[in-house]
Amino acid sequence: MTTSIIYIAGLYHSGSTLLDRLLTTSKDTIGLGEIYKLITDGREKYCSCGEQIDNCDFWTKFNPKVIGRNASEDEIEELYEDVMNLAHEYFPEAKYIVDSSKCHPISNEYIYKNFKGLIYHTKKDATNLKVINLYRDPRGWVGSIQKREKRFKRNFIKKIIHRSNLMRLVRWMQWYLMHKRIRHFLKENNIQHINISYEGICFQTEKTLKKIKEFTGIEYEINRDLELKTFNSHISVGNPSRLEPGSNSHIRYDSKWLSNRFNIVDNLMFILFNKQIKAFVYKDF
Ligand SMILES: [Zn+2]
Repeated sequence: MTTSIIYIAGLYHSGSTLLDRLLTTSKDTIGLGEIYKLITDGREKYCSCGEQIDNCDFWTKFNPKVIGRNASEDEIEELYEDVMNLAHEYFPEAKYIVDSSKCHPISNEYIYKNFKGLIYHTKKDATNLKVINLYRDPRGWVGSIQKREKRFKRNFIKKIIHRSNLMRLVRWMQWYLMHKRIRHFLKENNIQHINISYEGICFQTEKTLKKIKEFTGIEYEINRDLELKTFNSHISVGNPSRLEPGSNSHIRYDSKWLSNRFNIVDNLMFILFNKQIKAFVYKDF
C-alpha cells in the first residue's frame, strides 16, 4: 500500500500544530510533527500522544543522534529515511503520514535550511506528496513573533533592535517574501498543493475542512464542538502549547493580536500587502 505524505508548509507560528492534530483525528493518519527539527535539534521531553518522550511507543523505537542545524544534506537524509522507514514499519496500515516541518526560506536556493523536509519528500517521491500551504494573517503572525521576543534573553542593544519598528518592517517583509519563495518552490517542482489559512480553519471551519478533506482524502472526524480527538499524534517538538491540557484539544483561534496596538508600519504594510492577504488568508471568506 502506498502511504501519502501530507506536508504542512508555511511559516512557523501559523497554526501548524493545530492542523497536524486536526489531520490525526482520523485513524488512517499518523502525525509526526516537525520531523526536520526533531532530526537537527533533538526531541523534547513530551510527546502529543500524552506520554513522556522516553515512554512514547513510537519515538522510543527511533534512536536519534542530534546532528545540529549545520548538518550535511547526507546526514539529514539518512535520518529522515530512518524516521520514514520506521513509520512505515510501525504503522503498516497508515494511509497518510503528516510532516509539519514547515519552511523557512531565506532565499530560493534548494537547500534543507530553506525548505526543510519539503526537499526530502520532493526528492523521494513528489507524486506521492501533498502539500497544505498554510497562511496566517500577517498582523497576527508579526504580533506573535514580536511577543516571542519577550521570552528571549538578549543584551540591551539587541533588545532595542528586535523590538524596534525597523524589525517590525523586517517581519512583514519576511512574511511576504518567505511565502513567495514557498509558492515558487511548489510551482517549480509541480507539487500538488492547496492554500489554506489559520483564520480559514477557525472562522470558515466547515468550508476549509471540506477543502482539506477533498484535497488529502483523509476522512477525519470533527464533532460540533470542534474537538480534536487524535489517534496517532506523536508531535515531540515545536509549539509548547501542545503540552497544556485542553489548549490544543479544540479548534480555537489565538486572538491575542487583536488587542495589539498597531503603528504606522503595520498600517502601511497592511495596505501594501492587502492583495496577498485577501488572496491567501481570506479567500474563502
Ligand atoms: Zn508519542
